[in-house]
Amino acid sequence: MDSSETSAAEKRPTYDRVDVSVLVVGAGAAGARTAIELAERGVDDVLVLGKRSHGDAHTTWARGGINGALGTRDPEDSWEIHAADTLNEGHFINDPEKVETVTKQMPARLRELDEWGMDFSRTEDGDIDQRYFGAQSFRRTAFAGDHTGESMLRTLVDRAQDLEIPYRENVMITKLLSDGDQTYGAVGFDMDSGDPILFNTDTVVLAAGGYAALYNRHTSRDDENNGDGPALAYDAGAELMDMEFVQFHPTGMAVDESDPEWEPWSGRLVTEAVRGEGGRLYNADGERFMERYSPDQMELDARDVVARAIAKEVAEGRGTDNGGVYLDLSHRDRSFIRERLPRMYERFQDLGVDMATEAVEVAPTSHYGMGGVVVDDYGETRVDGLFAIGETMAGVHGANRLGGNSLAETVAYGVVAGERIAPRVDGPGDVPETVVESVAEPHFTDLTAMADHDGDHDVTEVFGEIQNLMWEHAGILRDEESLQTGLDRLGDLREQASDMNVGSMTSESFEFAVDVGFMLPIAEAVLRGALQRTESRGAHYRRDHTKKDTDWQQNIYVERADVGGMTSHTEPVASPSPAVQDALDEGHELDYHQLE
Ligand SMILES: Cc1cc2nc3c(=O)[nH]c(=O)nc-3n(C[C@H](O)[C@H](O)[C@H](O)COP(=O)(O)OP(=O)(O)OC[C@H]3O[C@@H](n4cnc5c(N)ncnc54)[C@H](O)[C@@H]3O)c2cc1C
Repeated sequence: MDSSETSAAEKRPTYDRVDVSVLVVGAGAAGARTAIELAERGVDDVLVLGKRSHGDAHTTWARGGINGALGTRDPEDSWEIHAADTLNEGHFINDPEKVETVTKQMPARLRELDEWGMDFSRTEDGDIDQRYFGAQSFRRTAFAGDHTGESMLRTLVDRAQDLEIPYRENVMITKLLSDGDQTYGAVGFDMDSGDPILFNTDTVVLAAGGYAALYNRHTSRDDENNGDGPALAYDAGAELMDMEFVQFHPTGMAVDESDPEWEPWSGRLVTEAVRGEGGRLYNADGERFMERYSPDQMELDARDVVARAIAKEVAEGRGTDNGGVYLDLSHRDRSFIRERLPRMYERFQDLGVDMATEAVEVAPTSHYGMGGVVVDDYGETRVDGLFAIGETMAGVHGANRLGGNSLAETVAYGVVAGERIAPRVDGPGDVPETVVESVAEPHFTDLTAMADHDGDHDVTEVFGEIQNLMWEHAGILRDEESLQTGLDRLGDLREQASDMNVGSMTSESFEFAVDVGFMLPIAEAVLRGALQRTESRGAHYRRDHTKKDTDWQQNIYVERADVGGMTSHTEPVASPSPAVQDALDEGHELDYHQLE
């Protein structure tokens, strides 16, 4: 080796290397269910990792329930009607095949979770109980009190541990290894030690959550749902779709933000189950205002309808001092509330509000990004070997998501992805040296340069500015001028993000700095999609184009341009199968007044 070769070798970054047949990035319900499917099909060389400890994924925050046409309470329900409700709520922007993949499977998936020990709430006869949820024709939402996600993830993690599936905690993936056509693995770092790691594999399942926390008022944790999954896939060459559709949940907590005890609760979810169990909305004048907006479905109309109604009441001066409205369940018995909504009851009790005797204050909050990564019917992207499932994927929810359908999507797609991957596995990948040298190592060098960088801009300020921008410019009510201004401002924030003041690789500021890198392209995709879609549909409402336009029954696809930047194109949506079309033609609809 001559001296120039020696100095080149010395400059190469050092890192750990892990060889594995399948890497599952994300250990929420979607990642866990994929790994279980693989293990049950005899694939044992699987590694599941997450950026938190085992059992701690965002899924645990899911509250109200999980959908599946079991027909426990309403025997006339069927998977076809579940699919029809999902398409109706999605305003026919959903991919009908994906909707079928989920709705057909769900009765079996619920029974399986039951067998594995999930503590579902039960009917008097001991069956899995089902409750009403917004815009669903029948009682179809199975639940474990109001801690459904926690119970579900515990069940899946126990099952994964019984099957001895390896799990690595506190690892953050920062880039996927791909040449745009084929996956070769992923790179990231150990958040405890700061050590960089290269995962060599030809199959990556991205189950890394969504992008609802791009907004300053949101129901997610601050450090989850920042767009990691979609951003990693986009960077690797996959397409994104439907990014403009962001669900604003009508009932986030509205609090006095100047009060330190209440401030952390701003925007936190008051589960739809409160309305599903009969909760009523009143404005500050004591008027049950949903009678004006939706006399048939009332509080249980679609989330976008109820969210816009609340926003309108507040904008027209009929809101509370904290910018919300009242949600009241006090006509129910205390024992009923404690049994059906134990976590909500306790939360408000701790804050000095008694749900059995008084109303709580609520206002819309960012809850779920319907868009995500474009995948085929098994969850595979156009990059060979790269799968994206759960909240990271697009296609099931269309322009608006039915409550209870995202937990359903996680397990349904976990199973089909596992089925597709299992027969293909033939040992660890073989990442080419060219990819290591041209993609992985320069990335490790960039990460090292970002750590301890003494830049001019504070990470949390840039992070918060992106969230403020999205709320202001791509929130519940949108228009061309504001969206365009948002895009321009995002350009300024991109500049600031390139010169941030960042701590070491084990610091919180480093994690947030990586998140800023994920948030920027995802925020851009939301703004661009919202600008391009010159109509109102589901969760996307344009003040300057207030009607739905049939010409826009198309999905907007976003991809990285060959030379920098982002490009987009549109494609029409496929038609539902005859069975689902029949259910649509039958015109099922929730009859809210059964609840009264
Ligand atoms: C407050 C709240 C209540 C909800 N209630 C319901 C409900 O009642 N019913 C329903 O159907 N849906 C509900 N949802 C939505 C539902 O919880 C989620 O869509 C679903 O749990 C997503 O599961 P997932 O497995 O796709 O992702 P998650 O559970 O978010 O898991 C993501 C995983 O990816 C890991 N990860 C992320 N980024 C990285 C990275 N860069 N590197 C390494 N690992 C990474 C995380 O550590 C985690 O393990 C709710 C959502 C919220 C916020």
